[in-house]
Amino acid sequence: MIDFAIARRRMVEQQIIARGVDDQRVIDAMMQVPRHLFVESGLQSHAYSDASLPIGEKQTISQPYMVAAMSAALDLQGHERILEIGTGSGYQSAVLSLLVKRVYSIERISVLAGRARKVLDQLCMSNINIKVGDGTIGWRDQAPFDGILVAAGAPDIPTKYLQQLDVGGKLVLPVGDRSQQILMRVTRLGDDKFKREQLMDCRFVPLIGEQGWLTDED
Ligand code: SAM
Repeated sequence: MIDFAIARRRMVEQQIIARGVDDQRVIDAMMQVPRHLFVESGLQSHAYSDASLPIGEKQTISQPYMVAAMSAALDLQGHERILEIGTGSGYQSAVLSLLVKRVYSIERISVLAGRARKVLDQLCMSNINIKVGDGTIGWRDQAPFDGILVAAGAPDIPTKYLQQLDVGGKLVLPVGDRSQQILMRVTRLGDDKFKREQLMDCRFVPLIGEQGWLTDED
């Protein structure tokens, strides 16, 4: 029988703190969220390993380090309203829910959105709104956002994200081709002023939609 609390502590120490994530709020959130509940029972023994894992529908739950690094890159204080694209298993949403005031998350595959909702409800995480749809166009009714986190790889930065980001807000997203991307951070400094930074290499499933890839195949 695996002690998930011990596995989680080891994950945080060896994969997250050791690799340089030093935002204590992010570390605490990663220590708290039971990642094994976001994967199917047959994969629970791998839930705290240093890898992304399949969640069905050809999609994945992101690697723990990537979830922590992307959350830290948003530089969150607690008062924020965040847009998340690609709910997937709901794990990243759960981590964000402990770090901000409200999470607005969009998933294009309804069966994944439904499963994520169920787990998040079991954990009583009530500050997360999930909707099914094309996240490449953002969530206009709820904009502007203090931060936007995109958990799927885009060919370019969708313009809607720049429009829906508040001044001072940060957008974190993988940009590149279908198999490999660079994690980018874009900070909105003014109405028409954006600072772009390249954070690290990464590999995400494709962002599919009007302002992303057109299909999930080549
Ligand atoms: N962060 C998630 C987690 O912790 O489980 C993993 C996200 S997974 C790597 C990427 C997700 O993005 C997939 O569930 C995929 O269906 C979704 N996705 C891809 N394109 C999308 C789009 N245009 N709008 C919303 N979701 C999208």
